[in-house]
Amino acid sequence: MTLLEANRPTVEGVGGDSYLCYIKGRVKRDVGRVLVGDMVEFERTDPGEGRIERILPRTNQLVRPPVSNVTGLFVVFSLDHPRGSLELLDKRLVAAKLGGMQAEVILSKVDLSAESSELDRIENAYRAAGYPVWRTVATVGRGVEFLTAQSRQGIWVLTGESGVGKSTLLNAMLPRQETQTQQLGRSGRGRQTTRWVRLYPINGYWMADSPGYTALEATVAEGRVILSAFPEFQTFDCRFGDCLHGQEPGCEVTLAVARGEIAPWRHRHYRKLLSQWVKIY
Ligand SMILES: [Zn+2]
Repeated sequence: MTLLEANRPTVEGVGGDSYLCYIKGRVKRDVGRVLVGDMVEFERTDPGEGRIERILPRTNQLVRPPVSNVTGLFVVFSLDHPRGSLELLDKRLVAAKLGGMQAEVILSKVDLSAESSELDRIENAYRAAGYPVWRTVATVGRGVEFLTAQSRQGIWVLTGESGVGKSTLLNAMLPRQETQTQQLGRSGRGRQTTRWVRLYPINGYWMADSPGYTALEATVAEGRVILSAFPEFQTFDCRFGDCLHGQEPGCEVTLAVARGEIAPWRHRHYRKLLSQWVKIY
């Protein structure tokens, strides 16, 4: 892929044909910047060139990396080398929920994890919360089959703290492929694919490489929405009908945490998010 200047995005149409596009001034005024993942209507002008006429409504959008219309997040977490933050993992899962995205947890570098029992606890906690959890050793290609074997669609973003092995995972998936961008679209439509975020075609879906943090444009959430990102809490029948299960005396979720039936860090991070009402990274 060639990185093009920011105001000359590449749109890929039907059959992988690509167009270096200008953006109509009106489009810029209406939506600000064009994002990777945007579905656009464009006019062909010259061979291989076009003009973006309209950006179709986005289902969601991430700020960092700037990607729109995201189907799901792969949240990569390493227990050791470096030791990851479970709080950041939980925040990313909440961010996915706020954006209406799916999310799956990738435990990376599991061969370097000294504490296998801790790894088990983490895996069990996120499985209990309803997230698929995958154990990988990407350097030798172990455990990465799920990235290509499952039928997925849309755009998935590989996210996680720096050093967790995102690019190693990507390389394990793309052993022989050129790192290139492509995009799909109906006639007269295409998808914006350039800028420093890259989209890689994987079996039927697109993987966006994402250096650094992932943040959502939506920065404030309702308590109920935050709660919905912790589905394992719902399995406990709280006696208080409108309870947010923070630390109300007698709350069944709080009691379940005390009994060890809910991962204590999950409840701690949940309470922190409830109290902050701030930007979700
Ligand atoms: Zn409760």
